[in-house]
Amino acid sequence: MYTKFQEHLQKELADIEAAGLYKHERIIESPQGAEIMVKGKKCLNFCANNYLGLANNPELIEAAKKGMDARGYGMASVRFICGCQDLHKQLEKKISEFFGTEDTILYAACFDANGGVFEPLLTEEDAIISDALNHASIIDGVRLCKAQRYRYANADMADLEEQLKAAQKNRFRIIVTDGVFSMDGNVCPLDKIYELAQKYDAMVMVDESHSAGVVGKTGRGVTERYNLRGQIEILTGTLGKAFGGAMGGFTTGRKEIIDMLRQRSRPYLFSNSMAPGLVAAGIRMFEMMSETNELQDKLHANTDYFLRRMKEEGFDCKPSESAICAVMIYDAAKSQKYAAKMQEEGIFVTGFYYPVVPKGQARIRVQISAAHEREHLDKCIEAFKKVRKEIEG
Ligand SMILES: *Cc1c(COP(=O)(O)O)cnc(C)c1O
Repeated sequence: MYTKFQEHLQKELADIEAAGLYKHERIIESPQGAEIMVKGKKCLNFCANNYLGLANNPELIEAAKKGMDARGYGMASVRFICGCQDLHKQLEKKISEFFGTEDTILYAACFDANGGVFEPLLTEEDAIISDALNHASIIDGVRLCKAQRYRYANADMADLEEQLKAAQKNRFRIIVTDGVFSMDGNVCPLDKIYELAQKYDAMVMVDESHSAGVVGKTGRGVTERYNLRGQIEILTGTLGKAFGGAMGGFTTGRKEIIDMLRQRSRPYLFSNSMAPGLVAAGIRMFEMMSETNELQDKLHANTDYFLRRMKEEGFDCKPSESAICAVMIYDAAKSQKYAAKMQEEGIFVTGFYYPVVPKGQARIRVQISAAHEREHLDKCIEAFKKVRKEIEG
Protein backbone atom coordinates (compact mmCIF):
# COMPACT_ATOMS: atom_id res chain seq x y z
CA MET A 1 0.00 0.00 0.00
CA TYR A 2 2.70 2.44 1.03
CA THR A 3 5.07 2.00 -1.95
CA LYS A 4 3.31 4.37 -4.36
CA PHE A 5 2.74 7.01 -1.71
CA GLN A 6 6.35 6.68 -0.56
CA GLU A 7 7.57 7.34 -4.12
CA HIS A 8 5.26 10.33 -4.32
CA LEU A 9 6.63 11.77 -1.06
CA GLN A 10 10.23 11.07 -2.01
CA LYS A 11 9.76 12.99 -5.25
CA GLU A 12 8.06 15.93 -3.53
CA LEU A 13 10.77 16.06 -0.87
CA ALA A 14 13.47 16.00 -3.56
CA ASP A 15 11.69 18.90 -5.29
CA ILE A 16 11.65 20.89 -2.04
CA GLU A 17 15.36 20.22 -1.55
CA ALA A 18 16.14 21.12 -5.21
CA ALA A 19 14.28 24.43 -4.82
CA GLY A 20 16.47 25.19 -1.81
CA LEU A 21 13.41 25.27 0.45
CA TYR A 22 14.13 22.22 2.59
CA LYS A 23 14.09 23.09 6.27
CA HIS A 24 17.07 21.64 8.09
CA GLU A 25 16.98 21.70 11.87
CA ARG A 26 19.99 23.19 13.59
CA ILE A 27 20.69 21.32 16.80
CA ILE A 28 21.25 23.43 19.92
CA GLU A 29 23.10 21.77 22.79
CA SER A 30 22.36 24.34 25.50
CA PRO A 31 19.41 26.26 26.96
CA GLN A 32 17.98 29.04 24.78
CA GLY A 33 19.73 32.36 25.27
CA ALA A 34 21.92 35.09 23.80
CA GLU A 35 24.78 32.58 23.76
CA ILE A 36 23.99 29.04 22.64
CA MET A 37 26.07 25.95 21.87
CA VAL A 38 25.88 24.56 18.35
CA LYS A 39 28.10 21.63 17.31
CA GLY A 40 30.22 22.19 20.39
CA LYS A 41 30.78 25.82 19.41
CA LYS A 42 29.53 28.92 21.20
CA CYS A 43 27.28 31.09 18.98
CA LEU A 44 25.38 34.30 19.46
CA ASN A 45 21.69 33.85 18.84
CA PHE A 46 19.90 36.56 16.87
CA CYS A 47 16.96 34.54 15.59
CA ALA A 48 14.96 33.56 18.67
CA ASN A 49 11.66 35.14 19.72
CA ASN A 50 13.25 35.37 23.17
CA TYR A 51 12.72 39.14 23.19
CA LEU A 52 12.92 39.67 26.94
CA GLY A 53 15.59 37.01 27.46
CA LEU A 54 13.32 35.02 29.79
CA ALA A 55 13.68 31.61 28.12
CA ASN A 56 16.30 30.52 30.66
CA ASN A 57 15.39 32.86 33.51
CA PRO A 58 16.25 31.35 36.94
CA GLU A 59 13.19 32.85 38.66
CA LEU A 60 10.86 31.35 36.08
CA ILE A 61 12.56 27.97 36.27
CA GLU A 62 12.19 28.09 40.04
CA ALA A 63 8.51 29.08 39.75
CA ALA A 64 7.90 26.23 37.30
CA LYS A 65 9.53 23.72 39.67
CA LYS A 66 7.50 24.99 42.63
CA GLY A 67 4.35 24.86 40.54
CA MET A 68 5.05 21.25 39.64
CA ASP A 69 5.77 20.36 43.27
CA ALA A 70 2.52 21.96 44.41
CA ARG A 71 0.18 21.05 41.55
CA GLY A 72 1.80 18.13 39.72
CA TYR A 73 3.15 17.48 36.24
CA GLY A 74 0.07 17.33 34.05
CA MET A 75 -3.68 17.78 34.03
CA ALA A 76 -4.74 14.81 31.89
CA SER A 77 -7.96 16.63 31.09
CA VAL A 78 -9.46 19.45 29.12
CA ARG A 79 -10.42 22.52 31.12
CA PHE A 80 -14.15 21.96 31.56
CA ILE A 81 -13.96 18.32 32.67
CA CYS A 82 -11.30 18.36 35.39
CA GLY A 83 -8.39 20.34 33.93
CA CYS A 84 -8.84 23.68 35.67
CA GLN A 85 -6.76 24.44 38.75
CA ASP A 86 -6.64 27.61 40.82
CA LEU A 87 -3.38 28.35 38.95
CA HIS A 88 -5.12 28.49 35.57
CA LYS A 89 -7.62 31.05 36.86
CA GLN A 90 -4.79 33.09 38.41
CA LEU A 91 -2.84 33.19 35.15
CA GLU A 92 -5.96 34.24 33.22
CA LYS A 93 -6.49 37.07 35.70
CA LYS A 94 -2.85 38.18 35.36
CA ILE A 95 -3.18 38.32 31.58
CA SER A 96 -6.37 40.40 31.82
CA GLU A 97 -4.65 42.83 34.21
CA PHE A 98 -1.61 43.09 31.95
CA PHE A 99 -3.65 44.04 28.88
CA GLY A 100 -6.42 45.92 30.71
CA THR A 101 -9.06 43.55 29.38
CA GLU A 102 -12.18 42.04 30.97
CA ASP A 103 -11.44 38.31 30.81
CA THR A 104 -9.00 35.77 29.36
CA ILE A 105 -9.09 32.17 28.14
CA LEU A 106 -5.94 30.02 27.96
CA TYR A 107 -5.04 27.65 25.14
CA ALA A 108 -2.15 25.23 24.59
CA ALA A 109 -0.73 27.69 22.05
CA CYS A 110 -1.65 30.89 20.22
CA PHE A 111 -2.05 28.75 17.12
CA ASP A 112 -5.02 27.20 18.93
CA ALA A 113 -6.28 30.54 20.20
CA ASN A 114 -6.44 31.84 16.62
CA GLY A 115 -7.74 28.54 15.29
CA GLY A 116 -10.61 28.58 17.77
CA VAL A 117 -11.62 32.23 17.90
CA PHE A 118 -13.72 32.86 14.76
CA GLU A 119 -15.89 29.81 14.32
CA PRO A 120 -17.73 30.07 17.66
CA LEU A 121 -18.45 33.79 17.24
CA LEU A 122 -19.33 34.40 13.59
CA THR A 123 -21.54 32.83 10.92
CA GLU A 124 -22.00 33.15 7.13
CA GLU A 125 -23.90 36.41 7.71
CA ASP A 126 -20.76 38.05 9.12
CA ALA A 127 -17.48 39.40 7.72
CA ILE A 128 -13.83 38.89 8.64
CA ILE A 129 -11.56 41.55 7.18
CA SER A 130 -7.99 40.31 7.41
CA ASP A 131 -4.57 41.86 6.72
CA ALA A 132 -2.85 40.04 3.84
CA LEU A 133 0.26 39.38 5.95
CA ASN A 134 -1.52 37.91 8.97
CA HIS A 135 -0.02 34.84 10.64
CA ALA A 136 -0.77 31.35 9.30
CA SER A 137 -2.83 30.52 12.39
CA ILE A 138 -5.21 33.42 11.71
CA ILE A 139 -5.58 32.29 8.12
CA ASP A 140 -6.40 28.76 9.31
CA GLY A 141 -8.83 30.08 11.91
CA VAL A 142 -10.64 32.12 9.26
CA ARG A 143 -10.84 29.01 7.04
CA LEU A 144 -12.60 27.10 9.81
CA CYS A 145 -15.32 29.74 10.05
CA LYS A 146 -18.20 30.29 7.65
CA ALA A 147 -18.03 34.08 7.75
CA GLN A 148 -17.39 35.95 4.50
CA ARG A 149 -13.73 36.77 3.96
CA TYR A 150 -12.26 40.08 2.92
CA ARG A 151 -8.55 40.78 2.60
CA TYR A 152 -6.66 44.08 2.58
CA ALA A 153 -3.04 44.75 1.57
CA ASN A 154 -0.63 44.88 4.52
CA ALA A 155 -1.37 47.92 6.70
CA ASP A 156 -3.04 49.62 3.70
CA MET A 157 -5.77 51.79 5.20
CA ALA A 158 -7.28 52.85 1.85
CA ASP A 159 -7.72 49.20 0.96
CA LEU A 160 -9.12 48.41 4.42
CA GLU A 161 -11.69 51.17 3.95
CA GLU A 162 -12.73 49.69 0.58
CA GLN A 163 -13.19 46.28 2.19
CA LEU A 164 -15.16 47.78 5.06
CA LYS A 165 -17.49 49.46 2.57
CA ALA A 166 -18.00 46.15 0.78
CA ALA A 167 -18.68 44.44 4.11
CA GLN A 168 -21.46 46.84 5.13
CA LYS A 169 -23.96 44.30 3.81
CA ASN A 170 -22.87 41.81 6.47
CA ARG A 171 -24.42 41.52 9.93
CA PHE A 172 -21.23 41.89 12.03
CA ARG A 173 -17.72 42.85 10.89
CA ILE A 174 -14.35 42.24 12.49
CA ILE A 175 -10.99 43.59 11.34
CA VAL A 176 -8.13 41.20 12.14
CA THR A 177 -4.45 42.14 12.24
CA ASP A 178 -1.12 41.03 13.63
CA GLY A 179 0.26 43.56 16.13
CA VAL A 180 3.76 43.28 14.68
CA PHE A 181 4.37 41.70 11.28
CA SER A 182 7.16 39.20 11.61
CA MET A 183 9.02 39.79 8.35
CA ASP A 184 9.31 43.61 8.40
CA GLY A 185 8.96 44.30 12.12
CA ASN A 186 6.35 46.98 11.41
CA VAL A 187 3.59 47.66 13.93
CA CYS A 188 0.01 47.64 12.62
CA PRO A 189 -1.45 51.17 12.42
CA LEU A 190 -3.97 50.43 15.16
CA ASP A 191 -4.99 54.08 15.64
CA LYS A 192 -6.18 54.30 12.05
CA ILE A 193 -7.67 50.80 12.10
CA TYR A 194 -9.64 51.77 15.20
CA GLU A 195 -10.88 54.96 13.55
CA LEU A 196 -12.08 53.05 10.50
CA ALA A 197 -13.66 50.44 12.75
CA GLN A 198 -15.66 53.23 14.46
CA LYS A 199 -16.65 54.78 11.16
CA TYR A 200 -17.78 51.49 9.59
CA ASP A 201 -19.16 49.80 12.69
CA ALA A 202 -16.62 46.98 12.95
CA MET A 203 -14.93 45.17 15.82
CA VAL A 204 -11.15 44.72 15.96
CA MET A 205 -8.92 41.76 16.80
CA VAL A 206 -5.15 42.09 17.26
CA ASP A 207 -2.74 39.15 17.51
CA GLU A 208 -0.12 40.42 19.97
CA SER A 209 2.23 37.45 19.62
CA HIS A 210 5.26 39.46 18.44
CA SER A 211 4.21 42.72 20.13
CA ALA A 212 3.27 41.69 23.68
CA GLY A 213 6.12 42.32 26.08
CA VAL A 214 7.90 44.32 23.38
CA VAL A 215 5.86 47.19 21.94
CA GLY A 216 4.86 50.15 24.10
CA LYS A 217 6.94 51.74 26.83
CA THR A 218 6.02 49.03 29.33
CA GLY A 219 5.58 46.23 26.76
CA ARG A 220 1.79 46.12 27.05
CA GLY A 221 1.64 45.79 23.29
CA VAL A 222 0.10 47.82 20.48
CA THR A 223 -2.87 48.92 22.57
CA GLU A 224 -0.37 50.69 24.85
CA ARG A 225 1.54 52.11 21.88
CA TYR A 226 -1.67 53.69 20.51
CA ASN A 227 -3.42 54.51 23.79
CA LEU A 228 -6.21 52.03 23.09
CA ARG A 229 -5.96 49.95 26.22
CA GLY A 230 -9.25 48.18 26.87
CA GLN A 231 -10.75 49.47 23.60
CA ILE A 232 -10.07 46.46 21.37
CA GLU A 233 -12.63 43.66 21.44
CA ILE A 234 -10.21 40.72 21.03
CA LEU A 235 -6.47 40.26 21.62
CA THR A 236 -4.66 36.96 21.14
CA GLY A 237 -1.10 36.16 22.17
CA THR A 238 1.48 33.56 23.09
CA LEU A 239 3.54 32.67 26.13
CA GLY A 240 6.03 31.19 23.66
CA LYS A 241 7.82 34.40 22.65
CA ALA A 242 8.70 37.39 24.87
CA PHE A 243 6.74 35.94 27.81
CA GLY A 244 9.27 33.20 28.62
CA GLY A 245 9.29 31.22 25.41
CA ALA A 246 7.79 28.02 26.81
CA MET A 247 4.25 27.24 25.65
CA GLY A 248 0.74 28.50 25.96
CA GLY A 249 -1.60 30.88 24.20
CA PHE A 250 -4.51 33.09 25.14
CA THR A 251 -7.43 35.13 23.93
CA THR A 252 -8.28 38.15 26.04
CA GLY A 253 -10.93 40.82 25.63
CA ARG A 254 -14.63 41.44 26.12
CA LYS A 255 -16.25 39.31 28.80
CA GLU A 256 -19.07 37.87 26.69
CA ILE A 257 -16.68 36.95 23.88
CA ILE A 258 -14.42 35.01 26.26
CA ASP A 259 -17.47 33.42 27.85
CA MET A 260 -18.70 32.20 24.46
CA LEU A 261 -15.25 30.82 23.62
CA ARG A 262 -15.37 28.78 26.84
CA GLN A 263 -18.65 27.30 25.63
CA ARG A 264 -17.83 26.69 21.97
CA SER A 265 -14.13 27.08 21.07
CA ARG A 266 -12.99 23.69 19.82
CA PRO A 267 -9.25 23.78 20.73
CA TYR A 268 -10.37 24.72 24.27
CA LEU A 269 -13.04 22.04 24.52
CA PHE A 270 -11.12 19.20 22.88
CA SER A 271 -7.45 19.73 23.79
CA ASN A 272 -5.51 19.29 27.01
CA SER A 273 -5.21 21.97 29.65
CA MET A 274 -1.86 23.76 30.17
CA ALA A 275 0.62 21.97 32.44
CA PRO A 276 0.82 23.37 36.01
CA GLY A 277 4.56 24.09 35.85
CA LEU A 278 4.15 26.33 32.82
CA VAL A 279 1.11 28.05 34.33
CA ALA A 280 2.96 28.77 37.60
CA ALA A 281 5.93 30.20 35.69
CA GLY A 282 3.53 32.31 33.63
CA ILE A 283 2.03 33.81 36.78
CA ARG A 284 5.51 34.67 38.10
CA MET A 285 6.44 36.16 34.73
CA PHE A 286 3.50 38.61 34.80
CA GLU A 287 4.41 39.52 38.40
CA MET A 288 7.92 40.35 37.19
CA MET A 289 6.46 42.51 34.41
CA SER A 290 4.60 44.61 36.96
CA GLU A 291 7.57 44.87 39.36
CA THR A 292 10.08 46.38 36.96
CA ASN A 293 10.43 47.74 33.43
CA GLU A 294 14.12 46.87 33.26
CA LEU A 295 13.80 44.25 30.51
CA GLN A 296 11.65 46.43 28.26
CA ASP A 297 14.01 49.36 28.74
CA LYS A 298 17.01 47.20 27.87
CA LEU A 299 15.31 45.68 24.84
CA HIS A 300 14.31 49.08 23.49
CA ALA A 301 17.82 50.47 24.07
CA ASN A 302 19.35 47.42 22.36
CA THR A 303 17.04 47.71 19.36
CA ASP A 304 17.67 51.45 18.96
CA TYR A 305 21.44 50.92 19.23
CA PHE A 306 21.51 48.05 16.75
CA LEU A 307 19.44 49.85 14.12
CA ARG A 308 21.36 53.11 14.50
CA ARG A 309 24.77 51.41 14.24
CA MET A 310 23.74 49.25 11.27
CA LYS A 311 22.50 52.33 9.41
CA GLU A 312 25.73 54.18 10.22
CA GLU A 313 27.62 51.25 8.70
CA GLY A 314 25.55 51.68 5.54
CA PHE A 315 23.22 48.70 5.87
CA ASP A 316 19.73 49.02 4.48
CA CYS A 317 17.41 48.23 7.40
CA LYS A 318 13.63 48.47 7.36
CA PRO A 319 12.27 50.92 9.90
CA SER A 320 11.19 48.87 12.91
CA GLU A 321 9.07 49.59 15.94
CA SER A 322 9.61 46.13 17.35
CA ALA A 323 12.54 43.85 18.18
CA ILE A 324 12.63 42.59 14.58
CA CYS A 325 15.22 44.21 12.31
CA ALA A 326 15.08 43.34 8.62
CA VAL A 327 18.48 43.86 6.97
CA MET A 328 17.66 44.08 3.29
CA ILE A 329 19.81 42.04 0.89
CA TYR A 330 17.17 41.86 -1.93
CA ASP A 331 18.80 38.96 -3.82
CA ALA A 332 17.60 35.52 -2.61
CA ALA A 333 20.79 33.54 -3.22
CA LYS A 334 22.87 36.29 -1.64
CA SER A 335 20.68 36.32 1.47
CA GLN A 336 21.43 32.63 1.98
CA LYS A 337 25.15 33.30 1.51
CA TYR A 338 25.00 36.05 4.12
CA ALA A 339 23.21 33.79 6.62
CA ALA A 340 25.67 30.91 6.09
CA LYS A 341 28.70 33.17 6.44
CA MET A 342 27.25 34.86 9.51
CA GLN A 343 26.94 31.43 11.05
CA GLU A 344 30.62 30.75 10.28
CA GLU A 345 31.28 33.93 12.24
CA GLY A 346 29.33 32.48 15.16
CA ILE A 347 26.19 34.57 14.61
CA PHE A 348 22.84 32.84 14.25
CA VAL A 349 20.49 34.78 11.94
CA THR A 350 17.95 33.68 9.33
CA GLY A 351 17.77 34.66 5.67
CA PHE A 352 14.26 34.91 4.23
CA TYR A 353 13.35 35.07 0.56
CA TYR A 354 10.43 34.39 -1.78
CA PRO A 355 7.82 33.00 -1.10
CA VAL A 356 8.14 33.97 2.58
CA VAL A 357 8.73 37.60 1.53
CA PRO A 358 7.93 39.24 -1.86
CA LYS A 359 10.20 38.48 -4.84
CA GLY A 360 13.39 40.58 -4.84
CA GLN A 361 12.89 41.48 -1.16
CA ALA A 362 15.23 38.89 0.42
CA ARG A 363 16.58 39.84 3.79
CA ILE A 364 18.36 38.79 6.94
CA ARG A 365 16.01 38.97 9.90
CA VAL A 366 17.74 39.94 13.11
CA GLN A 367 15.82 39.54 16.35
CA ILE A 368 17.07 41.59 19.26
CA SER A 369 16.70 40.51 22.88
CA ALA A 370 17.06 42.03 26.32
CA ALA A 371 19.46 39.11 26.87
CA HIS A 372 21.94 40.70 24.45
CA GLU A 373 24.76 42.75 25.91
CA ARG A 374 26.30 45.66 24.02
CA GLU A 375 29.30 43.47 23.10
CA HIS A 376 26.96 40.87 21.55
CA LEU A 377 25.37 43.55 19.38
CA ASP A 378 28.80 44.89 18.39
CA LYS A 379 29.96 41.39 17.45
CA CYS A 380 26.90 40.93 15.27
CA ILE A 381 27.47 44.28 13.53
CA GLU A 382 31.18 43.50 12.99
CA ALA A 383 30.24 40.10 11.52
CA PHE A 384 27.81 41.80 9.12
CA LYS A 385 30.61 44.14 7.98
CA LYS A 386 33.07 41.28 7.50
CA VAL A 387 30.58 39.15 5.59
CA ARG A 388 29.55 42.08 3.40
CA LYS A 389 33.20 42.64 2.49
CA GLU A 390 33.63 38.96 1.62
CA ILE A 391 30.49 38.88 -0.50
CA GLU A 392 30.43 42.34 -2.08
CA GLY A 393 34.22 42.75 -2.31
C1 LIG B 1 4.17 32.80 16.88
C2 LIG B 1 2.85 33.30 16.48
C3 LIG B 1 1.70 32.54 16.71
C4 LIG B 1 1.75 31.14 17.26
O1 LIG B 1 2.05 31.15 18.63
P1 LIG B 1 2.26 29.74 19.37
O2 LIG B 1 1.90 30.01 20.77
O3 LIG B 1 3.69 29.39 19.17
O4 LIG B 1 1.35 28.77 18.72
C5 LIG B 1 0.48 33.10 16.38
N1 LIG B 1 0.38 34.32 15.83
C6 LIG B 1 1.48 35.08 15.58
C7 LIG B 1 1.32 36.44 14.98
C8 LIG B 1 2.74 34.58 15.89
O5 LIG B 1 3.81 35.32 15.62
